[in-house]
Amino acid sequence: MRSYSLIAPAKINLYLEIIGDRPDGYHELAMVLQSISLADQIDIRSIGVENIVVRCDHPLVPENESNIAYRAASLMSKQFPDVFAQYGGVEITIHKHIPVAAGLAGGSANAAAVLVGLDLMWGLGLTRGELQELGAQLGSDVPFCVGGGTALATGRGEVLSPLPNLDDIYLVLAKYRKLSISTPWAYKTYRRKFGHTYVTDTEGQENSGQRVHSEPMISAIANHNHREIGKLLHNDLEKIALPEYPQLLKLREAFASENVLGAMMSGSGPTVFALTESQSQAEQVKAAVKAKISDPDLEFWIAQFNSSGISIAD
Ligand code: ATP
Repeated sequence: MRSYSLIAPAKINLYLEIIGDRPDGYHELAMVLQSISLADQIDIRSIGVENIVVRCDHPLVPENESNIAYRAASLMSKQFPDVFAQYGGVEITIHKHIPVAAGLAGGSANAAAVLVGLDLMWGLGLTRGELQELGAQLGSDVPFCVGGGTALATGRGEVLSPLPNLDDIYLVLAKYRKLSISTPWAYKTYRRKFGHTYVTDTEGQENSGQRVHSEPMISAIANHNHREIGKLLHNDLEKIALPEYPQLLKLREAFASENVLGAMMSGSGPTVFALTESQSQAEQVKAAVKAKISDPDLEFWIAQFNSSGISIAD
């Protein structure tokens, strides 16, 4: 086929622990990542000329080489120059539904979709592992976004261990439209404030990473214990984002005071989410929080946990 439409789901963190600094300048992390049904659609098609074109009508998303979807196509063209020449370039159209710079890995999901889409369109037959290895060159969240579902991520986020699916949990997400948090700012600020708590030696970091495999959150997921999962939600980056942005703390508290399994900020924020047992409960929580914080800048989404990453659109 000369074109494909792909669904690129966002992710939330159920757990995010910062362990220390790595020699490569990144943070050593332990995270539980979860795909959700809030997703972008990525259309890719072969064009006659040996070129990469990105289109996206979202004002905060660049259409040039700095778009991570462009970078994904460029990486594929360099890895497989003969196929690129044979197919004659690619046009990528991003239909953005995932809020931008929101802690939901929207850009990473787009890059993962381009890797999967070009593999299909060019008939390369790459394995999931090979696609994830390519993804790791683009960003720490890209490997997870390829396969999605529920996973434990260690290293800088690219070392993945699959966890049992939790696709019967719902969530309501909220974000202030005008508030964005840059991921580099969040990690830099965390290092400035909490760097003294970091595990510095490689062995200690490996041990911390191993310990996470037996964390109560992992057992709660294995047991499909939704109440425990809600109670054990954890994100170290809340320690810097919530004091800096009191409106996020207020939003999190508003969610937590409703009939929810638990509430937390996702990734580096500023999206805050609450988990519920059903869609109708999520709708009720949304209505209650909307009534409590009547700010027109606050936007809501209802979603469901997803058991997969990139898929072909129907
Ligand atoms: P993460 O959770 O992985 O840190 P995020 O959800 O916080 O990611 P993104 O939505 O991926 O953040 O966007 C981060 C920045 O990357 C934005 O400022 C945006 O301008 C830029 N960007 C580049 N390509 C894309 C893309 N395809 N989609 C969204 N943003 C992109």
